[in-house]
Amino acid sequence: MNQREVIKRIKDNGGVPLDTKRGKGSHLRFGCGCPENKRTTVPYSKDDYGIGILRSIEKAFEHCMGEGWLIGRKR
Ligand SMILES: [Zn+2]
Repeated sequence: MNQREVIKRIKDNGGVPLDTKRGKGSHLRFGCGCPENKRTTVPYSKDDYGIGILRSIEKAFEHCMGEGWLIGRKR
């Protein structure tokens, strides 16, 4: 899963981009969109992310997007 795909998943789940003025090639910050207003950073990468980064993004928004919203429940 790369940056573009992660961003699509975040937006599909109600996340809100916080860096509307940033150009391509940078990390992007997102808010979860619920009243708790948690934030996470999606690092810039043109390649697929490692599992550690994906888990940390998922964990940040799990409270409102649901367990496993990004890469699925733990097996
Ligand atoms: Zn939230």
